[in-house]
Amino acid sequence: MTPKIAEFLNTHRGETPFLVVDLDKVESNYRDLRRALPLAEIYYAVKANPAAPVLGRLVGLESSFDAASFQEVEMCLAAGADPAAISYGNTVKKARDIARAFAAGVRLFAFDSAGELEKLAEHAPGSRVFCRILTDNGGADWPLSRKFGCHLEMARDLMLAAAEKGLKPHGISFHVGSQQTDPSQWEVAIGRAAMVFTDLRRRGIEVRMLNLGGGFPARYRGGDVPPVDAFADAIMKAMTKHFGNDLPAMIIEPGRSITAEAGVLQTEVVLVSRKSYAADEPRWVYFDIGKFGGLAETMDEAIRYPVDTPYGADAEMGPVIIAGPTCDGADILYEHCGYQLPMALKPGDKVQLLSAGAYTTTYASQGFNGFPPLSEHYI
Ligand SMILES: *Cc1c(COP(=O)(O)O)cnc(C)c1O
Repeated sequence: MTPKIAEFLNTHRGETPFLVVDLDKVESNYRDLRRALPLAEIYYAVKANPAAPVLGRLVGLESSFDAASFQEVEMCLAAGADPAAISYGNTVKKARDIARAFAAGVRLFAFDSAGELEKLAEHAPGSRVFCRILTDNGGADWPLSRKFGCHLEMARDLMLAAAEKGLKPHGISFHVGSQQTDPSQWEVAIGRAAMVFTDLRRRGIEVRMLNLGGGFPARYRGGDVPPVDAFADAIMKAMTKHFGNDLPAMIIEPGRSITAEAGVLQTEVVLVSRKSYAADEPRWVYFDIGKFGGLAETMDEAIRYPVDTPYGADAEMGPVIIAGPTCDGADILYEHCGYQLPMALKPGDKVQLLSAGAYTTTYASQGFNGFPPLSEHYI
């Protein structure tokens, strides 16, 4: 927790749950990545946290942006981004949204299929396009699965087809999976992408850009993640190995690593209960935020937020099951991964979930059970 957030929490009396984000931390995360990978242009993945103050701060730092929808394109423009600095990076887009982004000046688009290429040729003529290849996603706590990307031979053929359709076959992209803690995953993916570059060069197409995606991890509970330099080293070693002195332009699309650790979620204990008289059964602790209030990434207990309570480090602890406040049986946050909370914890206690600045506010439901969407503060 940054001093600025600590002071905000000391003085702010607003109703929980709410998220507070320190924009200076957003900035320092961005600068750390830029320092570690100076050759890569940063396209912030807007979906991680699209709040106007975040986008505005990043515009001020001359960041570029990876948008997943036309609405996200509009958010970037409203924050002052140049349309030339926006990549429409979703491989699944409505034709109408492609046309609207094109009309707004966006000229860089992702695709991974013949169907999407058709749409781009028609509604974004002459644009630069990049093809996403499949990667393995091993080592990622929040894998993006097989939903995106295509096989290498297909990527090659689609890039050739792009040129025939009057588009600019500009680059190859991949994403190694979100919260990826294994730097070697980038080495493998860079090697695969390089094969497509070579294949296309033989066929007379010079690919100019490699998009290394996002996936850079944040620190959550129990997770010692390698420092940003470990990822940068692995990436640059692989780039040199596969491309020598002839490096293509490099793009990265960090989301989580820019905003997660900049945010703290303040929640309140609603109830501490037991289900029987058996003393060895864990207590149930119900927070006023759950899966539907913004903590969707607790699905399968994948993302584990560190929890701070008002009780000191030497408070007596005991095992708990942590759940949200809604009347849905799926609204359990942590049951199997060994959370312990102070025995003295009681209703009304304020509890902080750390590293909560990414993938929370936009995952909040619109009033399920009457609970309002998560409120947000940017300081
Ligand atoms: C979600 C996403 C990102 C951001 O991923 P992080 O793991 O948050 O860094 C980047 N690029 C694309 C195409 C994405 O879908």
